Amino acid sequence: MTTDVLVVGGGLTGMSTALALHRRGIGVRVLERTTTGRRRGAALSVDRGLLERVTGQPAGDLPLVRDRYYDLAAWSDLHAWLQTRIRRARIPVERGRGVVSVSAGEPPTVALSGGASRTGTLLVGADGVRSVVRGAVEPERPVAEYAGYLVWRGLVLERDLPPGTPLPAVGNTFEVLYAPDFVLGAYAVPGPEGSTAPGERRLAFAWCDARRHGTLSGIIGRDKGRFDTVVPEEIPGGLLRDLAATARGVWPSPWGEAISHAVESREVFATPIAQHLPGRLVSGMVALVGDAAHAVTPMTGMGLHNGLLDVLALGETVGRHGVSPRALAAYEAERLAPDRQLVAMGRQMSRSYLSSVGT
Ligand SMILES: Cc1cc2nc3c(=O)[nH]c(=O)nc-3n(C[C@H](O)[C@H](O)[C@H](O)COP(=O)(O)OP(=O)(O)OC[C@H]3O[C@@H](n4cnc5c(N)ncnc54)[C@H](O)[C@@H]3O)c2cc1C
Repeated sequence: MTTDVLVVGGGLTGMSTALALHRRGIGVRVLERTTTGRRRGAALSVDRGLLERVTGQPAGDLPLVRDRYYDLAAWSDLHAWLQTRIRRARIPVERGRGVVSVSAGEPPTVALSGGASRTGTLLVGADGVRSVVRGAVEPERPVAEYAGYLVWRGLVLERDLPPGTPLPAVGNTFEVLYAPDFVLGAYAVPGPEGSTAPGERRLAFAWCDARRHGTLSGIIGRDKGRFDTVVPEEIPGGLLRDLAATARGVWPSPWGEAISHAVESREVFATPIAQHLPGRLVSGMVALVGDAAHAVTPMTGMGLHNGLLDVLALGETVGRHGVSPRALAAYEAERLAPDRQLVAMGRQMSRSYLSSVGT
């Protein structure tokens, strides 16, 4: 191992970055703010072939539901898959130490909560929508913009639905549904034991809602650029009752039942949607990947996909040119335009949705 790269953030793109660099013989250290790195209630589409190209690892054992257009996974299964490979590769992950500030000098240095600091030849910001590292790359625009709506999201076991609830057909679970004021993305992912058989899967939903963000605005801190996901414990009971009743009234089976069940069991999460159109991806020896680089609405269904394309490009350019300014320039030249294009498309989708709601 020749070089030490610091990766800030142990989410899906941070873990992927660590594996992509490690396989090229580069020493990597991941700094993750949380102690577990876990996230409840999330699911998403995954391009298994892309994941394999990024990490260099076969992904046939990743639990997926294969649909007409997408392969779909629980976020926790994909994160666990990456973590297993990180452990096997003995890549150090420091948990529970958030980066509080970044000095973009050469070499770049980060200050950690608790007082310590870390220095690397390259610093990769994979620290998500509320990236701290973004401030070192785009100091004039460090905070993502609020898109004007939130997404209620969750995961429900099919076996917890009321008896007789019709289940989505195999190979045909992914739906985007529209109702006055709302858009719903809904799909099945494997059950907790990996089964894809109807009755043993989990149903995932992402319900865009521009009506209720006002009720939660004190919690989501829209003016402070916090964009924290609101966890069930923080959601007022009256709002949950209203949400369950609305879900039953608006969404067809099985989604109405699934969402109301998630709400009533307090397994629903509210994620304020943030967008960031990048002007740069690189400054000195600091680079951004994933949501830190290009926060985008989940309506695109492409946030992770684009993040993995960032990581693929970064791994390949570093593989070609070493850990060097030339590699980062090549990375930015390859990824800035497509990242901007995705965010522009996402902003357009957000605007169309908001104008349909009349906000
Ligand atoms: C409802 C919903 C559905 C989606 N569906 C899809 C889909 O179908 N397909 C798709 O491609 N994408 C989808 N996405 C987008 C996708 O989930 C994200 O693009 C992707 O998970 C971002 O990963 P990330 O690692 O870049 O960021 P994050 O997941 O936000 O990870 C950032 C990590 O950095 C850590 N961190 C943050 N700040 C610090 C700090 N200061 N110091 C240290 N660590 C820090 C965090 O704790 C976290 O672990 C969806 C998103 C949502 C909300």
